[in-house]
Amino acid sequence: MTFHDELRRYDGLDFDRFFSQVADADIARIIAKNRLSPMDYLALLSPRAASHLEAIATRAHELTVRHFGRAVVLFTPLYLANFCTNQCVYCGFNTKNELERRKLTVEEVEAEAQEIAKSGLKHILILTGEDRKVTPVSYMVECVQALKKYFTSISIEVYPLTREEYGELAEAGVDGMTMFQEVYDEPAYLELHPKGPKRNYLRRLEAPERAAAAGIRQITTGALLGLHDWRREAFFTGVHTDFLQRTYPDIEVAISPPRMRPHLGGFPPKEIVSDADLVQYILAFRLFMPRAGVTVSTRENAKLRENLLSLGVTKMSAGVCTQVGGRASGQDDPGQFEISDGRSVAEMAEMLYSKGYQPVYKDWQYL
Ligand code: SF4
Repeated sequence: MTFHDELRRYDGLDFDRFFSQVADADIARIIAKNRLSPMDYLALLSPRAASHLEAIATRAHELTVRHFGRAVVLFTPLYLANFCTNQCVYCGFNTKNELERRKLTVEEVEAEAQEIAKSGLKHILILTGEDRKVTPVSYMVECVQALKKYFTSISIEVYPLTREEYGELAEAGVDGMTMFQEVYDEPAYLELHPKGPKRNYLRRLEAPERAAAAGIRQITTGALLGLHDWRREAFFTGVHTDFLQRTYPDIEVAISPPRMRPHLGGFPPKEIVSDADLVQYILAFRLFMPRAGVTVSTRENAKLRENLLSLGVTKMSAGVCTQVGGRASGQDDPGQFEISDGRSVAEMAEMLYSKGYQPVYKDWQYL
């Protein structure tokens, strides 16, 4: 059974009706449970649960400290290229947007790696736009080989690959992958992805399964919040993560809950996801999947990231630059989106220590 089959089980689910039936007593009962069902998780995402955030936060904090301690893994993204063949209406790299398209040579990748390595980081996430011809898997393999000299954990956020291609990258040294489904609701997905290979909903949806089957050990999924009803999208992201964990018990799973940020092209979010909504999502997810990671990126501002720390976050980006080759060249093109927290790795580490948390630079070594 694939995740798509699992998703079909929820086809007839009337979310509004379900939410209208959630009572205060249900929330209290769910908080006290040791193991939540998907419907318990959905109840925690309900508008009714929004008035119980304090009690849910206490439980989420307990679970996070029990499973992760007071530690946050730091990593940074490295944009290898911004060529893209898609027309996602909400993205600055959309093929129709006019911007200087760049692709780093392997030497330039190494120069960026040297800059990043000075900060002490050992975990890196490499990104490309989605253009198979300009950034084929063979190019990614070469980049990974250069990066391995500096980093102990290399993750990818690239277009959906075949199982064999994920295997090739795992062999080269990639140990993590992030695949944002962007929108789990299929009709909404098709509307937001009018042209290009990304329009293939199923191919994207099943990419994490192919990666896990090919031996990539750490899988992060997520929806881009603001594109569709956040409660449903948070629910399906959680159900997806749970499916991956059950189907591939030897992998580490995580979610990332990015909210839409301004970008070149200026597509307005369909709905505004407030800070309180984001908090509710992270708390509900922590109770549903106590051992799963939660990554919060620099799309969120410094103050909010600090407030989210004790609620379930396990991984944060730092020293971020969304321009291709922006660190070594100092080039200042428009990036994929605007960042809100521009703190360096050292500043992030200092903040974590001041809050009683330990910044973790390395928790994995590829042998
Ligand atoms: S979201 Fe990704 S695939 Fe879509 S336009 Fe941006 S870079 Fe391309």
